[in-house]
Amino acid sequence: MTEPAGGPAGGALAEATPPAESGPAEADWAAAVAAVRALPPDGRVLLICHVNPDGDALGSMLGFGLGLRRLGVRRMQATFPGPPEVPEPFRELPGLDLLVPATEAYPDPDLVICFDAAGESRLGELVDRLDTAGGVLVLDHHASNTRFGRVNLVDPHAAATSVVAEGLLARLGVALDAAIAECLYVALSTDTGSFRFEATTPAVHQLAARLLATGIRPGDISRRIFDTRPFGAVRLFGEVLGRACLEPAAAAGHGLVWTYATQDDLARHDQRAYVLEALIDSVRCTAEADVSCVVKQTANGDWAVSMRSKGAVDVSRVAVALGGGGHRFAAGFTGRGTVDEVVGRIRAELDGALTETGRR
Ligand code: 5GP
Ligand code: MN
Repeated sequence: MTEPAGGPAGGALAEATPPAESGPAEADWAAAVAAVRALPPDGRVLLICHVNPDGDALGSMLGFGLGLRRLGVRRMQATFPGPPEVPEPFRELPGLDLLVPATEAYPDPDLVICFDAAGESRLGELVDRLDTAGGVLVLDHHASNTRFGRVNLVDPHAAATSVVAEGLLARLGVALDAAIAECLYVALSTDTGSFRFEATTPAVHQLAARLLATGIRPGDISRRIFDTRPFGAVRLFGEVLGRACLEPAAAAGHGLVWTYATQDDLARHDQRAYVLEALIDSVRCTAEADVSCVVKQTANGDWAVSMRSKGAVDVSRVAVALGGGGHRFAAGFTGRGTVDEVVGRIRAELDGALTETGRR
């Protein structure tokens, strides 16, 4: 995810006034190109994206992998930490044949390339590859990225990691084909909320245009990614949304809306955890609250927390204070204890995380 609101202004104004923190330096791009070009003919490449991968994580990783394949890289795996289960909406992505379970990933690849992971903790049990690999390349767009690679292509102004991936493919001389484009389009459209969030700059639409020009079908892709879910999930959403709580006084009066879903809720409706990822989009519609939050119980009893803000609160500060990370207006962390304890910790951090807009 990227931020649903705020971020740099687009248009002519943005061109006239370059952002203070610009993207990767030319030397970083050159180092990344050199790292790929230095691979021996039988070099093993391991692509890793973050735990619980979303559209940007999988799409940027697989799209880039297909590009490397076009360059002649033959020994290549793509993987992510945790159970090797691809969420249903992404099961038709091109390049899925590159995927292997984390348990089968090369122990000592010649090159590791990480996608959409802001820090080492997002790599779970695969983190040891940062030490065993011959080289580590990081592609990301989180402002909070810890630059844990040996070469880091981090652009906090990019709408998605796929923007960075496409930039590197172009510099490697890989032309877009429909398979690469579909992966990158899924990544770009998920992280921009279907081109609705503030990060949707003219450059984002220009990239989308180049991707669409390969002949991919945006209607089919969007229906699969955004507008399809099992009936059990529709019923589950009804139940979980029915118990949402609105706290108008929270966040210095900007308001908090939150709900939660347990493993038992999932089991009763016979649903997989990934279906809960879309819940936050229904909760954040609440007009009376700036901050929205969904607390999702994971298989081991912890809570995966998703937070969104409309601009008054920098939820990445809340998330970082509670051990997680993210973007200003879309962030998350892992919580322990009861739901009330987790929400209590969030409530306590909100006042200290007001943006300038929020303090006005
Ligand atoms: P989502 O709510 O869609 O899972 O995540 C929103 C954003 O918050 C993502 O871009 C991701 O960067 C960040 N995020 C979510 N959960 C965590 C977490 O547990 N740790 C960290 N570091 N970031 C997270
Ligand atoms: Mn992303």
